[in-house]
Amino acid sequence: MLFPQSKNIYFLLMNKKREPRKWIGVNFTCCNFYGRAYKNEVKKEYLAQCPKCGRVIRFIVGQGGTDQRFFEVR
Ligand SMILES: [Zn+2]
Repeated sequence: MLFPQSKNIYFLLMNKKREPRKWIGVNFTCCNFYGRAYKNEVKKEYLAQCPKCGRVIRFIVGQGGTDQRFFEVR
């Protein structure tokens, strides 16, 4: 499906002081593509974009977030 209505997807990540992650694995099942979300040091978030349909995935660090390192996006 190209350019779905809910284009932007957000995930909340657990706020850990130790072991900072440089990237997070993202599986875009929408287009059968595997990519990575890299950390934006300025905004303190991770960003990934599906190269085929342009869907944007944001990972925001905060309280109550998940500890997953790998995410699947449909
Ligand atoms: Zn896609």
